[in-house]
Amino acid sequence: MEILTLVFIFIIGTVFGSFFNVVGYRMPKNISIITPGSFCPHCHHKLKWYELIPIFSYLFLNGKCLKCKQKISVMYPLVEITTGILFLVSYLVFGFTNMFLIMIIVISLLMIVIVSDINYLIIPDEVTIFCTILLFTVKLATLGIHDASLSLLSGLFLFVLMLYIMKLGNFIFKKESLGGGDVKLMFFVGVAVGPFSGMFTIFLSSVIALPISLIMYLKNKDNVIPFGPFILIALFIILLFKIDINTILTLFNK
Ligand SMILES: [Zn+2]
Repeated sequence: MEILTLVFIFIIGTVFGSFFNVVGYRMPKNISIITPGSFCPHCHHKLKWYELIPIFSYLFLNGKCLKCKQKISVMYPLVEITTGILFLVSYLVFGFTNMFLIMIIVISLLMIVIVSDINYLIIPDEVTIFCTILLFTVKLATLGIHDASLSLLSGLFLFVLMLYIMKLGNFIFKKESLGGGDVKLMFFVGVAVGPFSGMFTIFLSSVIALPISLIMYLKNKDNVIPFGPFILIALFIILLFKIDINTILTLFNK
């Protein structure tokens, strides 16, 4: 039975991933995410159901559009597989709990931000706001009004903190270092994990981003590296490994 549950969760993950591709590509361009149905970006050929099965369609189409034979970006199946894996890992750690629900919200925002930030260097406000409201609703239902309100205060604190980090960065580097989208993401992070783990998220995301930015900078000096995905990858790690203020303090006391 258990294996069936795992397979089911992975498949659901890939279906969600397929939807995150659509949201991530369309939202920044202000195209509706419902109509028209999925189409090839080159020849605008409308995709049939068998061209829309996560991962499998990409494989049996050989990574090419059925009509114009243009290559389909490998980002699509990668996002689908990754979402499936992250859903599975979260289920294995948390089971069917409210934490699993929170992980799904975090993974959703992460995957949409990966698609839109890498392609357009934009994090659509609507998506951040929608996911923050969902997250707050779960907090409200599980923690009650008092603790849920505190999570909003944490969000505000991290938002302001990130705003000053951005201003400082712009002043030092004399150019845009972070985007407004990254600052708004920190509100979401604050609601998710509170002020201390939230600050640790900023630290951890910089640690993860540093080597990758360096490699990309050496390859192409004009490259702008989207920071949003790193913030949410760090948040995912912190939630998955249950890193809180106590873990952080023991880490620094060694
Ligand atoms: Zn085509």
